[in-house]
Amino acid sequence: MKIGILGGGQLARMLALAGYPLGLEFIVLDPGADAGAVNLSEHLHGDYDDQNLLAQLAEKADVVTYEFENVPAHVAQFLSEHTQVYPGANALAVAQDRLLEKNFFHDINIPTAQFAQVDNLADLQTVMPDIGYPAILKSRRMGYDGKGQVILKSADDLPGAWQSMQGVPSIVEGFVNFSREVSIIAARRPSGEIAFYPLSENKHRGGILRVSEACSDDALQTQAQDYVTRLLEKLDYVGVIALELFEVNEGLVANEFAPRVHNSGHWTIEGSETSQFENHLRAILDLPLGSTKTRGFAGMVNFIGNVPPSEQVLSLRNAHLHLYAKQPRKGRKVAHASVRCDDVWQFAEVLQQLVNLANQTDDS
Ligand code: AMP
Repeated sequence: MKIGILGGGQLARMLALAGYPLGLEFIVLDPGADAGAVNLSEHLHGDYDDQNLLAQLAEKADVVTYEFENVPAHVAQFLSEHTQVYPGANALAVAQDRLLEKNFFHDINIPTAQFAQVDNLADLQTVMPDIGYPAILKSRRMGYDGKGQVILKSADDLPGAWQSMQGVPSIVEGFVNFSREVSIIAARRPSGEIAFYPLSENKHRGGILRVSEACSDDALQTQAQDYVTRLLEKLDYVGVIALELFEVNEGLVANEFAPRVHNSGHWTIEGSETSQFENHLRAILDLPLGSTKTRGFAGMVNFIGNVPPSEQVLSLRNAHLHLYAKQPRKGRKVAHASVRCDDVWQFAEVLQQLVNLANQTDDS
């Protein structure tokens, strides 16, 4: 079986690494010559909407999936007319547009921050008395890792903030005063069978994920599972999904979802009986899903911009290093390290040491 992946970065790389034991082959479409998965797969080198390359991908791949959701909707549509595409183009369309996504959450009764559509400065000025300060103005499309976002602290900020969006369709959201950020990762098969991972607690800085930790027996697990089940069923979704949530006094409110394997689930490679990558492949191939049980305590730290020397990471007991074969560049996720162990104190100590190493090399 050959799996086609739109995007050939680290997520495709980790999918390929999880797929080799299952005898799978991979073909990626990516515009970058040095994308992280290219030496593990056949590489179609070009733009996501290159008709000739898409035709080759459709012909060669038994199933096509994504590691990158911002591909044009017509690409997913074209591919699904020629081969099996999971998750379906509908999930992609909703996840690509923050306004459709927030409306979708509301349709299935999942609470979010208060939000409003903003297409010009007058819209922004009209809705702000209702939304209140602080708030965040976000581009509807192509936003990730905090890109295309501006914080609004008072009415004086509005003209400058709107100007910085360069006229792109946007939404404004009330600022959620959360106590924790968590995500739930789940996998669903075409038959409807779902496997849930334990919640992951996520720490961001500058809009970029830095640290994730598995939360076993979390009091909010049931609520998160309920939300993600509604999402999966309404979309008739196949594959792994990640739902990002804020914890507030009343429980959980949704921020966004990613229709793919997710950075907050990288700890599942060593920390779960079956990783999110393997379960994504199992789901899209309609194979039985593997156990999502956590093996002891598990967490992950991202290395951004630069990677510390491998010796320093690997000298830490129970630490594992994952290099993405990407050129170091400011603000770029170039590697992560995870820690998994049975002793909670040792786990906490090693995780902190990894955070210290990341802080020494982080350039963002
Ligand atoms: P996003 O690109 O929407 O995932 O946002 C990146 C990060 O910005 C989130 O993980 C939060 O840390 C923060 N953030 C985004 N939206 C909000 C919000 N409405 N209230 C508070 N923090 C937010």
